Amino acid sequence: MLHLINKKLTFAFNQEIKLMNLSIVIPVYNEEGNLSILYERLITVCEKITKEYEIIFVNDGSKDSSLSIIKEFAQKNSKIIFVNLSRNFGHQIAISAGLDLAIGKAIVIMDGDLQDPPELIKELYDKYEEGFEVVYAQRKKRKGDPVLKQFASKTFYKFFRKLTSVDMPIDTGDFRIIDRKILDILKNMPEKQKYLRGQIAWLGFKQTAVFFERDARLHGQSNYTYGKLIQLAWFGITGFSSIPLSFIVRLGLFVTFFSFLLIFYFTFQSIMFDSIISNGIIILICTSFFGGIQLLMIGIIAEYINNININVQNRPLYIIEETNKVN
Ligand code: UDP
Ligand code: MG
Repeated sequence: MLHLINKKLTFAFNQEIKLMNLSIVIPVYNEEGNLSILYERLITVCEKITKEYEIIFVNDGSKDSSLSIIKEFAQKNSKIIFVNLSRNFGHQIAISAGLDLAIGKAIVIMDGDLQDPPELIKELYDKYEEGFEVVYAQRKKRKGDPVLKQFASKTFYKFFRKLTSVDMPIDTGDFRIIDRKILDILKNMPEKQKYLRGQIAWLGFKQTAVFFERDARLHGQSNYTYGKLIQLAWFGITGFSSIPLSFIVRLGLFVTFFSFLLIFYFTFQSIMFDSIISNGIIILICTSFFGGIQLLMIGIIAEYINNININVQNRPLYIIEETNKVN
């Protein structure tokens, strides 16, 4: 049903919708202590940028009073849109729901816990006006985040950059401004396991950074458990790299090759020195031989599954930024 509603909206959008200058998309999960200050600071900064803006709060199944607070905002201010998801779908999906509804020419994605300072939107917008299609907010410092989380995140980004061909900036979250052009293509990447910062980096175009010091959360605690972070990282790697699959094939080849070396070595020894090959050695040879063959076969199947995966993801094959070809 929700899916249908979504489709209808998109359809309606495509027909005729007057774009406004700026949309701000904010996922909200148990942020009751932060919302009022966030609202005030946001309005102040948006009013400085343009009179044509909307702020979309997506309530992602909060258990506190977040929903009633954002409903109050919407009641007193027509620039506020609230979206209430039927349950907690997670950060990335909540952002996606907001993005589907946004009608800005420029769209800001930011968190609702004041870790992403609203005042930075002005700087992001200025850079966007210089002609950058993506301006991401890069963290110089991360206050309040545990050292282990910071270390894990840094290591992950380095690892991600090695495993994929995506030029993903280190030390960035989803806080950024994107051009409508980027959003429209992003919406044509219908993959369900969202890793938005990876998808946006993958798209290319002119991207740049604005640096900032990330504050600690104002109220409440992080909803990103290590489990959720690992899941996000997993979506990132499996969505953008097939190197782990090629690794299975290579490992399979290596183990099979190794078992052949063992076979040759011990056969040669038993012929030359007339020695008897012990049962232990025979077991070692058999396990490494069959283990290698199995790994190799699994790797080959995995490569086929990868092909299916790429087709199912249905990402655009390429994106033309400019051409002089007329129709
Ligand atoms: N959030 C959400 N759904 C969730 C978890 C988080 O909408 O299931 C929102 C949350 O309210 C905040 C943003 O996503 O606005 C980032 O979450 P959090 O601050 O917990 O993550 P962290 O900053 O610790 O990485
Ligand atoms: Mg946070």
